[in-house]
Amino acid sequence: MAQLNYVAELDLEGCTGCNWCDIACPSGAITMSERKAYIEDARCIGCGYCVDRCPEDVMWMTERSEPLALPVAEPLDADLRERALALVAKADMSVNSPVCPCAPSASAVVVAAAIVSGAETLEDVSAMTGMRGGCKIYCVAPTLRLLKAAGHEVKPNKGFRLYDLSLTMMDLEGSELDGESGSWLAEDLDVYQVRKETSKERSPE
Ligand code: SF4
Ligand code: SF4
Repeated sequence: MAQLNYVAELDLEGCTGCNWCDIACPSGAITMSERKAYIEDARCIGCGYCVDRCPEDVMWMTERSEPLALPVAEPLDADLRERALALVAKADMSVNSPVCPCAPSASAVVVAAAIVSGAETLEDVSAMTGMRGGCKIYCVAPTLRLLKAAGHEVKPNKGFRLYDLSLTMMDLEGSELDGESGSWLAEDLDVYQVRKETSKERSPE
């Protein structure tokens, strides 16, 4: 069971309400009220981004008194796994598609399980699975793909720019695949579909 050992804390007196920690937090664990930052322990994935960003140096990481189990992690129960696998297939992804290199326990199936369990945003998925706590780059495209397949329209957070889904060969149709440009996209797509349909899920870690 994946668990979190650290949580962010802050000295409220020294907080000037600049909002940097809130902007940096990948899991939506920080809220601002009356120009002070507040941390929701249960959503903190212990990444330390807020500590790095705080210009007043009033934030730090501390060991949790009890490790916190991530809400969605292996082993998934059979019904949840089945619904997650259906979402992975709907997103045209393979069960072994990588999602978050920084949090390998957040596999495509685990991220899909978080979404079918109620996650509607990147921040929700992060808080439920621990993904997005490292580079915050590679996990975004596959997670957006799964969120979109589940019918969620993800909007940029707090006025920031969010790029839409990366175009993949699975999104191309008709003449885009006809190889006029000398590409082998149609052949690549055939191979991908065969691999997707025949690949077996790797054992959960
Ligand atoms: S998830 Fe990361 S950025 Fe957010 S409060 Fe926790 S340590 Fe800070
Ligand atoms: S970054 Fe530091 S000073 Fe700014 S709101 Fe967060 S805790 Fe307060």
